[in-house]
Amino acid sequence: MPALFVGHGSPMNAVEENQFVRGFRDMAATFPKPKAILCISAHWFTRGLRVAVASRPRTLHDFGGFPEVLSAVRYPAPGSPELAERVASLLAPREVAFDERFGLDHGAWSLLVHMFPEADVPVVQLSLDASRDASEHLAVGRALSALRDEDVLVLGSGNVVHDLYDYSWSRDVVPVPAWARRFEGSLRELLLAGDDIGVAALPYVGRDAATAVPTPEHFLPLACVLGTRAAGELVDFPVDGYDGGTVSMLGVRLASP
Ligand code: ZN
Repeated sequence: MPALFVGHGSPMNAVEENQFVRGFRDMAATFPKPKAILCISAHWFTRGLRVAVASRPRTLHDFGGFPEVLSAVRYPAPGSPELAERVASLLAPREVAFDERFGLDHGAWSLLVHMFPEADVPVVQLSLDASRDASEHLAVGRALSALRDEDVLVLGSGNVVHDLYDYSWSRDVVPVPAWARRFEGSLRELLLAGDDIGVAALPYVGRDAATAVPTPEHFLPLACVLGTRAAGELVDFPVDGYDGGTVSMLGVRLASP
């Protein structure tokens, strides 16, 4: 299986038709349907690692101030307690808590409604650990890399540039600031060079990084995905562009040449 990091942007992408969601669909059409999906989303950020074990995960509407049409979205994919067990065993000796209450957050379902609209592939979410940095999330990804040989899609959901202070809510196309282009440019170079350690260090160094990654949770899913990289595996960017000027929609795909 490839491994994917997808920029989710505004929750409204779940119900809109635009270049980004076309990109989500096109990405999912390039590989066979997985046996299951392990989703690591910016919107499940906990102290310690948690894995969701519900067999029928609820669709969580974990946002406010959006139109009713978004609250009506349901993504009825089954869970997979088996995959949750497998994830916990691969991550040992790290402690992973089994969470029976968590469902699917909007970082997961706003992508999945486009990528797998039939909702027939089981989805399990793994949380990000607020007490671990990006290099430790890289190691989490490494521990999970075997899943890719077991027909499990590892899907990270975040945004590599995520500055909501300057975000334009108008949904018009607005100019992208120079600092965002510089930060994303450095990131792309490191990704293409296979410098995953450099990628994990990037959000912690310099003024551009402080603006682009004001909090870590939208960046960390990328580190998890990169951790699953096999030797010689190539990176490409199947989706790019900006939402609201300051949220990068860059998608990163790891796939064998
Ligand atoms: Zn988000």
